[in-house]
Amino acid sequence: MKQLLEKVYNKSQREFFEIIEDNLKSENKMFIVTANPETLMIGVNNPEFHDILKKGEVTITPDGIGVVKALSAIGRDVNERITGVDISKKLLEEGNKNNKSVYLYGAKPEVLDIFVAKLKKDYPNLIIAGARDGYNNDEDEVFKDILEKQPDIVLVALGIPRQEILINKYYHKLDKGICVGVGGSFDVLSGTKKRAPEVFIKLNLEWLYRIGKEPKRFGRFYKSNVKFIKIVNKLKQEGK
Ligand code: UDP
Repeated sequence: MKQLLEKVYNKSQREFFEIIEDNLKSENKMFIVTANPETLMIGVNNPEFHDILKKGEVTITPDGIGVVKALSAIGRDVNERITGVDISKKLLEEGNKNNKSVYLYGAKPEVLDIFVAKLKKDYPNLIIAGARDGYNNDEDEVFKDILEKQPDIVLVALGIPRQEILINKYYHKLDKGICVGVGGSFDVLSGTKKRAPEVFIKLNLEWLYRIGKEPKRFGRFYKSNVKFIKIVNKLKQEGK
């Protein structure tokens, strides 16, 4: 866990956005994983995912407040959360400004349709190289298409760790592309699922809002977060 926490990007969102902007313009590829405590717990328990997170080409951003707090606890100053939703939004905006292309893979067919229509309206210069839902498509067939189309941005919204394992399988074959596993971001950005109101975000209670909306998340959330907090507390003691 310590190794993973030490790898998490800890500068500001603004600085991170400058990096992705530059890489998008110069066609340097990137593999971004946005981490909440659950992501890192899966990382600890799943060797394949752990190896991916440790890879040099993988950038991990602190998506959840739990990760931000954990970094502070082990003495790494961290600025703020850098979420999958915000990274997706930034990439789509920059893609629109610079006439870049995006490939969208994941979410329910009806969500994806709404999302694509919204993007066409809001970002007329953004090229949609492909859009495949996450329920009726063969993963390898979709990535074959991605390799052919060579999009500038690849957003994979299938959930952790499936989306990262899949990006990792094909990443070395891509010549360019900012690849991000974005979880439920299409649901939020399409307007199908509301993000927490600003006040929840400001008070670092977005997780509480999400559980309130989807109580079935509670078991999953509780299990991974309690274990995560225990591990982080131990690291904190060791560091003293
Ligand atoms: N999803 C998908 N295919 C599947 C399972 C899930 O496309 O077989 C999508 C789902 O519709 C949602 C996203 O993957 O848009 C996962 O969202 P969630 O909020 O659970 O992501 P996480 O918490 O893993 O970031």
